[in-house]
Amino acid sequence: MSKMAVVVIDMLKDFVYGALKCERALDIIPNIRRLLNYAREKEIPIIYANDAHLPEVDLEFKKWGPHAIKGTEGAEVIDELKPQEKDFVIEKRRYSAFYETGLDMLLRELNVDTLILTGLHTNICVKHTAADAFYRGYKIIVPEDCVTTFTEEDHRWGLKYMKEIYGAKIVTLEELIKE
Ligand code: ZN
Repeated sequence: MSKMAVVVIDMLKDFVYGALKCERALDIIPNIRRLLNYAREKEIPIIYANDAHLPEVDLEFKKWGPHAIKGTEGAEVIDELKPQEKDFVIEKRRYSAFYETGLDMLLRELNVDTLILTGLHTNICVKHTAADAFYRGYKIIVPEDCVTTFTEEDHRWGLKYMKEIYGAKIVTLEELIKE
């Protein structure tokens, strides 16, 4: 039997309401909430992977401008999805939730072999996290209505890429919680 964990990527104030606001993020908030409620009920671990950039120095600023700077309000998880006591929170400074973070070690300690990836953005941080999960041998499930990005086209591209290249299972939330 597989041991799952839910990973919530970058559902932060700057990405939903602030510096890098994404209107489409509003659509996935209730779905992620439902998934998190389900996970808590089933005792599936929940791991938040949050951008926490260092001011001035981080590489990503050249591409995106300043966002999600560690310690600022913009780097906080949105109120609607606030982490609860038993949840894990991992800080990251690159697209991938694995890169130079403690995520892999945590997943091993939890005996997790399957990741349910949610959050922002389908074709950027979710995709790069999926790549690193694939390299490390994790199975990947992406509920397509719990991830999004700036455009429908890029969202679809990201899902297709993760499915074809990393073997990710693309499902709807409904399908996932029915299983
Ligand atoms: Zn970033």
